Amino acid sequence: MQGRCGDYGAWQWDNRMRLTVLGCAGSFPGPDSPCSAYLVEADGFRLLVDFGSGALSTLQRYVGLHAVDAILLTHLHCDHILDAASYIVVRRYAPDGPYPALPVYAPSGAPDRLSAAYGQTDTTIDDVYQFYGLQPGTFPIGPFSVTVDRVNHPIETYGVRLEHEGRVLCYSSDTAPCEALLRLAQDADVFLCEASYLDGVDNPPDLHLTGREAGEAATKAGVGRLLLTHLVVAWGSEAHTLDSATAAFPGPLEVVRPGASYDI
Ligand SMILES: [Zn+2]
Ligand SMILES: [Zn+2]
Repeated sequence: MQGRCGDYGAWQWDNRMRLTVLGCAGSFPGPDSPCSAYLVEADGFRLLVDFGSGALSTLQRYVGLHAVDAILLTHLHCDHILDAASYIVVRRYAPDGPYPALPVYAPSGAPDRLSAAYGQTDTTIDDVYQFYGLQPGTFPIGPFSVTVDRVNHPIETYGVRLEHEGRVLCYSSDTAPCEALLRLAQDADVFLCEASYLDGVDNPPDLHLTGREAGEAATKAGVGRLLLTHLVVAWGSEAHTLDSATAAFPGPLEVVRPGASYDI
């Protein structure tokens, strides 16, 4: 499960999942990263989880412009969805296109939100995206068994548990501490968890996690490895976040970077 950059082409398909970080900046794009976007692959199927601002750039850099078979949007904050609006152009107007409608699993307001962000509210975008509304539960997407549940964030937001061939990846999305997050992360091999806040300051409740809270959730859930994401670079301190997470979680952990890949 070593993080690796730039060796995508050398990877041989096997029964493992591969997570590639396309963007990990929290709340708004950072100087070195787009907003949240994570490509998860297995059996040649590519699921893009969140598609935040700037991630269309790194999708091309690290994977490929059309290297997406389905999209899951965990919630409709702009730092998790905006490049799904830009991607309408890619699918609809490609010289070798248009491409067939792509399955998009998202909260119920997604079609209107993406249409508005794209600037098209008079006609449908159903030619580009086939939408499936998220509800708490377990369902298949390609080779993955996907479990989603509502987490603790101001709008309808889903944490995600992806399982494939006995391996488990959990992604927190954006959340404050909650029981649903612990259930989703239970015994996960890899826990990709947000750590937006710094400890020791007066953080708003019911919005995000600190590094310490991410570490505590990882310990309670018994995960194998913790990957910290969604740090707000301009306002935070990566060293502080790492220290506070390390104090709360005894296992391996790191802060993710765009282009990093993990075999799970
Ligand atoms: Zn966010
Ligand atoms: Zn959010």
